Amino acid sequence: MHVIELIQKKRDAKNLNEEEIAYVVNGYTAGSIPDYQISAFLMAVYLNGMDDVEISYLTKSMLNSGRVANHRNDLGKVVDKHSTGGIGDKISIPLAPAVAAFGVRVPMLAGRGLGHTGGTLDKLEAIPGFRVDLSLNHFEKQTSEVGCIIMGQTAEIAPADKKFYALRDVCGTIESIPLIASSIMSKKLAEGIDGLVLDVKFGSGAFMSDYSRAKELALTMVSIGQQMGKDVSAYLTNMDQPLGKYVGNSLEIMECIEILRGEGPKDSTELTIELGAEMLMLGQVATNLEDGREKISEALRSGKAMSKFLEMVRAQGGSVAHIDNPNLFERAPRTKVIYAPQAGFMEKIDGRSLGLAVGLLGGGRCQITDVIDPRVGLEMHVRVGDPVSRGQPLCTIHMAEKGADEAQKRIENAFTIGASAEPVALIGERISFNK
Ligand code: URA
Repeated sequence: MHVIELIQKKRDAKNLNEEEIAYVVNGYTAGSIPDYQISAFLMAVYLNGMDDVEISYLTKSMLNSGRVANHRNDLGKVVDKHSTGGIGDKISIPLAPAVAAFGVRVPMLAGRGLGHTGGTLDKLEAIPGFRVDLSLNHFEKQTSEVGCIIMGQTAEIAPADKKFYALRDVCGTIESIPLIASSIMSKKLAEGIDGLVLDVKFGSGAFMSDYSRAKELALTMVSIGQQMGKDVSAYLTNMDQPLGKYVGNSLEIMECIEILRGEGPKDSTELTIELGAEMLMLGQVATNLEDGREKISEALRSGKAMSKFLEMVRAQGGSVAHIDNPNLFERAPRTKVIYAPQAGFMEKIDGRSLGLAVGLLGGGRCQITDVIDPRVGLEMHVRVGDPVSRGQPLCTIHMAEKGADEAQKRIENAFTIGASAEPVALIGERISFNK
């Protein structure tokens, strides 16, 4: 086999077989195929796409480039959730313990924030002492002993993806559905799961704003899962406004605590319940979605989900005192309320601008080496479709010195008040594993 022939084949929009794809992935991971040839290969995939069979071969090769976690198979099903990310999306944090409270194990490898969306790991690190840099052995052990874990990816998981992703970033090939789908699914399948729920975001605050592209991504990932013998469901959910009440690391942890106490905002609680119900079905402890919804709601109300969360926090070295008493979280030194300049209806809330503003305040990163200020963020007071009167508070900015003026301007411009507006539906569509 010669790599030039494989590049030419993809350049001419022909399909590659399993051996050919494995040759490219293994050669690049081992360092025997150079960046410049893989850049050409990735651009050919970007331009000509791949069919579902090729995408599953690509996923399999990347998955097999590293280790797959091993879980005891006498303890029931192992199920995870993955979100493509959006402003204020903190759902993984209450969701994992709520599902684990029913004996469905949730081994979750999560990411850090980059760009306008926050990362689950940065949010969890707002809990003093909470460790996310743990080994794959710890991952397996905590999954069986506690039932859930949320930590960072280790070097043993899909190392091929790490190299491919870094190269895609600098050769203009990030926005390719086959490449995104195989990248996400290789890492999720390496967790050693039986089932997976995908929360694919669309709308202004999402990484893929267009509904039809988001749906294509969702269908592609569901198809990969099926071909790999896993049960995978997907939800398309709206990101035309931030999810929940808070954006920013410590603030979002406080919202997670509210959700786990059964006192959370309507939308973030609803999504926790919906995705949790689906996970309980995949885990075969709920007979249908309604049964799953009731179980998760009850776990939030009764404190069952909270006690599992406390177990997880303890197992990862986090301060349980902060969860018991959120007043212990350090607050940003200043707050500033943004008021409505006119009366009308809240027509649009630009989540992307709000996310970038929180980044400017120090709540996110421009570069992976930037240090996060967990205290800063936003408290939202309105939703799309709400009537607003002149001078009504729209949001409160929690800030320190960094980036305050520029962030404030962006935040003021993120709200559009019009003559009329409808509320947006949170859940666009469900693509079920058992359809
Ligand atoms: N997230 C990933 O893990 N991979 C991509 O390609 C895009 C988003």
